[in-house]
Amino acid sequence: MMMESVELPNRLAILPFRNKLLLPGAVIRIRCTSPSSVKLVEQELWQKEDKGVIGILLVQDSAETSTVDPALSPGVGTDSVECTLKNQASISDSNHHDGKRLQQVHWHKWGVAARALHLSRGVERPSGRVTYTVVLEGLCRFRVQEISTRGTYHTARITSLELTKAEMEQVEQDQEFIVLSRQFKATAMELISVLEQKQKTGGRTKNLLETVPVHKLADIFVASFEISFEEQLSMLDAVDVKGRLSKAIELVDRHLQSIRVAEKITQKVEGNLSKSQKEFLLRQQMKAIKEELGDNEDEEDDLTALERKMLGAGMPVNVWKHARRELRSLKKMQPQQPGYNSSRVYLELLADLPWQKTSEEHELDLKAAKERLDSEHYGLFKIKQRIIEYLAVRKLKPDARGPVLCFVGPPGVGKTSLASSVATALGREFVRISLGGVKDEADIRGHRRTYVGSMPGRLIDGIKRVGVSNPVMLLDEIDKTGSDVRGDPASALLEVLDPEQNKTFNDHYLNAPFDLSKVTFVATANKIQPIPPALLDRMEVIELPGYTPEEKLKIAMLHLIPRVLDQNGLSSDLLQIPEGVVRLIIQKYTREAGVRNLERKLASLARAAAVQVVEQEHAMPLSKDVQRLTNPLLDSKLAVEAEVEMEIIPMAANNHHISNALGTSLPLIVDETMLEKVLGPPRYGDRETAERVNTPGVAIGLVWTAFGGEVQFVEATSMVGRGDLHLTGQLGDVIKESAQIALTWVRARATQLKLSMAEEHDLLGGRDIHIHFPAGAIPKDGPSAGVTLVTSLVSLFNQRRVRADTAMTGEITLSGLVLAVGGIKDKVLAAHRHGIKRLILPNSNLKDLVEVPASILSSLEIIPAKRVEDVVEQALEGGCPWRICSKL
Ligand code: ADP
Repeated sequence: MMMESVELPNRLAILPFRNKLLLPGAVIRIRCTSPSSVKLVEQELWQKEDKGVIGILLVQDSAETSTVDPALSPGVGTDSVECTLKNQASISDSNHHDGKRLQQVHWHKWGVAARALHLSRGVERPSGRVTYTVVLEGLCRFRVQEISTRGTYHTARITSLELTKAEMEQVEQDQEFIVLSRQFKATAMELISVLEQKQKTGGRTKNLLETVPVHKLADIFVASFEISFEEQLSMLDAVDVKGRLSKAIELVDRHLQSIRVAEKITQKVEGNLSKSQKEFLLRQQMKAIKEELGDNEDEEDDLTALERKMLGAGMPVNVWKHARRELRSLKKMQPQQPGYNSSRVYLELLADLPWQKTSEEHELDLKAAKERLDSEHYGLFKIKQRIIEYLAVRKLKPDARGPVLCFVGPPGVGKTSLASSVATALGREFVRISLGGVKDEADIRGHRRTYVGSMPGRLIDGIKRVGVSNPVMLLDEIDKTGSDVRGDPASALLEVLDPEQNKTFNDHYLNAPFDLSKVTFVATANKIQPIPPALLDRMEVIELPGYTPEEKLKIAMLHLIPRVLDQNGLSSDLLQIPEGVVRLIIQKYTREAGVRNLERKLASLARAAAVQVVEQEHAMPLSKDVQRLTNPLLDSKLAVEAEVEMEIIPMAANNHHISNALGTSLPLIVDETMLEKVLGPPRYGDRETAERVNTPGVAIGLVWTAFGGEVQFVEATSMVGRGDLHLTGQLGDVIKESAQIALTWVRARATQLKLSMAEEHDLLGGRDIHIHFPAGAIPKDGPSAGVTLVTSLVSLFNQRRVRADTAMTGEITLSGLVLAVGGIKDKVLAAHRHGIKRLILPNSNLKDLVEVPASILSSLEIIPAKRVEDVVEQALEGGCPWRICSKL
């Protein structure tokens, strides 16, 4: 360590420095790239078990040495060891010298022994060349006796210039030394107190003054601030302790003065005016002077640049004429004039739009496209096949205006990423335009420029962003566009998608036709129903229904985990998430059709792991050679040597190295404990459904939402009242009517169902019924809750519980028929996700089951129902005892 005396070996490997020095006590970071230095670092530092020490030696060309002023650097010239080298190539890294120029070099007589505080190894791409980044701390001076070449690098026989104890004791008696050292300490103390006001070093620096011998302090202090090369050299050459002290006093004192002067200036300026105030005033004056002179140079320049850009934009003739007219009137305006800016922004848009620019379309390689789709998406065989067909048609007939592909499905099933794969396969740029919540036609088509704050519509904006006129453009959430008084965005979209019309798409803001016919449109939607039929007619719908747990597991293991690790600077060397844990996340932390939440949960784990890895890195040395920095003055000032290439190595690139150093503690393997710690307690339990249907009156239905299929509980209860029906849970009209139908049907059959004894006895006599659909905040509608409503009412009146393992869906008629409903596949998947074992479906929906994966079907008992009675019989616990005595 710096404060101990250093025992140097007789021979040191030499890393030559050109025009650069490392003083004892200084720290620099260098990057070694030449073969000789890489070899040196590898053998002397990287592969050594104990801490390696190398020698840093200044080397100068013979021509250069003569230019150094002998007065400034007393050592040079006389003290240089001259030697002729046969093996000249790349002796130094830090200064990119070319070995050919050099015939003779002068090695400086004194060097500085250095040890590595930190080492990291990197591989340059694509060359595969190994490089090292080394943080070196200077230890003490040595004298060079003889230089030789070992293999690719140099070594030197040396003697240490470190004072021995006896020598030290002798020096300490010297009167001159005592005076100098007192003087030095006083100056150093002053510097410390000035610095402490600025940055807290927690008294560590003061501590240094008491513990470190003064001749070393001299080095440490000088090393901590920037001085010229010549001054560094004279400090290095100050081998004699007294000389070194007086040099250090001079330098420290000068540094102190310069800090004081800088402070004074700041105070003065602050006292008068704040900087921005001053700037503002000066600018105002400048402007006034310019106006006085009629000098508008800046603006002129700007407009010329704009004109040049417009000329290069390749606008069609009529647009160019229009633009030129606008530019002419802009030139006549003063920048302060209203309308100047808006006109300018408009012209910038015209100049930025890719009127001609297209990305080069390469020959479509179907095989490569297929491989790419396969490598980026697990499963989805039919869908990928359809995309390949689509691409094949395009290959045969590039200008074919086939239908627009529209991916329909719940969130997180891969719609966006499939669309972006289509773009990659076609070799086109990809741009996504979100249509969610677009209600105003102007969102698509832009506002006329007469409006304040007018803008182009989203399409033109997208084209501008992507910068080419033939991108693949994703119209995201096309089902979420609505229409209201401000016009119908759907009709504007229709124009966009119509090959006859989109050649001259007219954006109101642009006010000039833009050709959208080269754009390949792809759309996504959560549901088909809300898409206006005219739009739907132009699209080919490809449905993505959602994934089974097994599929999710595969997607997570093959795609999501590698991606998430990469995004968080980790790798499988550092973090592993075993299959069992992923299964748990799928079952207990997410209940979704897609994989978006799953991806989010995995990302949370990765982030937590990244924190742990970084914490471990701080707790332990980064590598075998890492030492504590001994010079607190340097804490905030590492590697000021500007010429040396600095490189902060990001953690990701350093994985291997960190894990090596951390030994057995990596990779971190996620287990259940970590899972709970990071993600909290499981959100969904196995017993949840059983607990919720514990009381009579609760039944499990299946609904279809924008998020895919969902389990929907229906709760019915009764209380004293006047025979009213209360409905809650944000219900739409259709679902309310279903509730009426269900209640009517049950009342009409009260006797047959043995719910009341006599025919004339009213079920609702003196009672109100309340039916609730949790979760109360989510709006619900549709007819498919019919069977569930009947079941919950029968269960309520009958006081028998509904089976906890059974879910149902189906519309009912007043006469008790069960009718087919939509979204069967999503509903089946949802039931499976919730651990449902039996499923009551309308008989006429059985044909839809072909879409459901066989693995899911085999785990479910499917019960077809034609009439409501079938449903009730299958749903209630213990079957339907009344059936025996009455004919329903
Ligand atoms: P959507 O557009 O349907 O809402 P995204 O395309 O944004 O969904 O997909 C969400 C995430 O899930 C993306 O990171 C996507 O790559 C990933 N993903 C979805 N399906 C698959 C799949 N079959 N294979 C691999 N990754 C998938």
